[in-house]
Amino acid sequence: MSTSFQNIKGTFDILPDAYRDGGTRIASSAEWHHVESTIRDVMARFNIEEVRTPIFEPTELVARGIGEHTDIVTKEMFAFERSGTNYVLRPEVTAPVMRAFLQHHLEQRGGVQKLFYIGPCFRAEQPQKGRYRQFHQFGIEIVGADDPRADVEGIAVMMAVYRAFGIDNMTLRINTLGTPDDRAAYVDALRDYLEPHRDELSETSQRRLEKNPLRILDTKLEHEQEIVQDAPRLIAFVDDESRRDYDAAKALLDDIGIDYEEDPFLVRGLDYYTRLTYELESPDLGAQSALAGGGRYDLLAQALGSSDPVPATGFAAGMERLFLAIEAAGTDLPAPPKPDVFIAALGDEAERWVFRTAQTLRAEGLSVALDLKGRSLKAQMKEANRQDAPYTLIIGGNELDAGSAQVKEMASGEQVEVAFEDLAAYLKQRNEIAPQAA
Ligand code: AMP
Repeated sequence: MSTSFQNIKGTFDILPDAYRDGGTRIASSAEWHHVESTIRDVMARFNIEEVRTPIFEPTELVARGIGEHTDIVTKEMFAFERSGTNYVLRPEVTAPVMRAFLQHHLEQRGGVQKLFYIGPCFRAEQPQKGRYRQFHQFGIEIVGADDPRADVEGIAVMMAVYRAFGIDNMTLRINTLGTPDDRAAYVDALRDYLEPHRDELSETSQRRLEKNPLRILDTKLEHEQEIVQDAPRLIAFVDDESRRDYDAAKALLDDIGIDYEEDPFLVRGLDYYTRLTYELESPDLGAQSALAGGGRYDLLAQALGSSDPVPATGFAAGMERLFLAIEAAGTDLPAPPKPDVFIAALGDEAERWVFRTAQTLRAEGLSVALDLKGRSLKAQMKEANRQDAPYTLIIGGNELDAGSAQVKEMASGEQVEVAFEDLAAYLKQRNEIAPQAA
């Protein structure tokens, strides 16, 4: 079978079995399910609640939330227009979650809101390993706490997710950004420092020198990294309160045994980012080494029109990169689920019985496979093998007359005769399935 259609470059299908797409392993749906539910378990342990926001939002929200001049907004948005309104497929989820928080007055629930999300995001980037056009992020937003404890709680949950998958080959880098004013003063100093080196900089960096010199700090070019080494440090420009919070965050990280590296050049250009910022990297990921990034963004709410400041901190992490790290760590993920039993039928009357009985057993919580094409017994047995059910039943006229079935345990080949009315209980006990609620 074939089609001339293909999934769009930079997207991928999630199928019942894992497969390779180019060099990248695309996990199976069962593996995705397991990874998502492990993330949910970790979130539950940190009592973080889920929010789900729409896949598309008004362009205006995203532009204000991420910044008009960022690469994401200027180059990477999947945008469309409908009846005079401009929309984008969401490139990230922080701005939508903050919108939802403000719109629904979640502060009225009282206390600090700890929210998480898992879902697809869209960016029109050049696809490569670990970088897609439709990818998936999980992340959290802790809203309403202006305290380094909230930042560290965010880091702790992020680390707990990776640890839950046996991943420990990773580096957490942290820095403090201070206030936008601190950063503006720093940008001036940085520009003054870089200006005499202008001719040594790449074309891109020369352009950034005008618009956003902070981005030169994370240059990948070795000779630029050497120049940057002697550049002024942001920490020297940061206000006392930010510095105090930064020290408090480091002490808390030490207390809970989370290793980190201080990186004076870890910065984010956007004005609403304040104070603690961090990034988690894995050397196992190749060029796209960032597993997750986060920090405090106390001024985002106001950028979205809130009259009051709303302190907030959180991180966003890529699911596809999590899968790459899981693979590198050699952690096993569950195989696709198998049915508990396959029931094969011989003859018309038996076929009807099998169809009815499958319904009854499924209502009892068993996973039941059967033939849906009226195939020969031989073909049905082949199918039973393919589906790898631990038990099979063959029902024919004799079994119907006797009111009992031979239940065959496939691994041992052993057969046991079980009365029809006892089948559900027998199979459930063998498969260790808990009784279903009525
Ligand atoms: P960002 O919102 O750019 O800070 O991204 C947060 C995390 O999402 C990154 O650390 C990556 O793990 C992941 N990520 C971002 N962009 C992509 C992409 N195009 N494809 C796959 N993962 C991505």
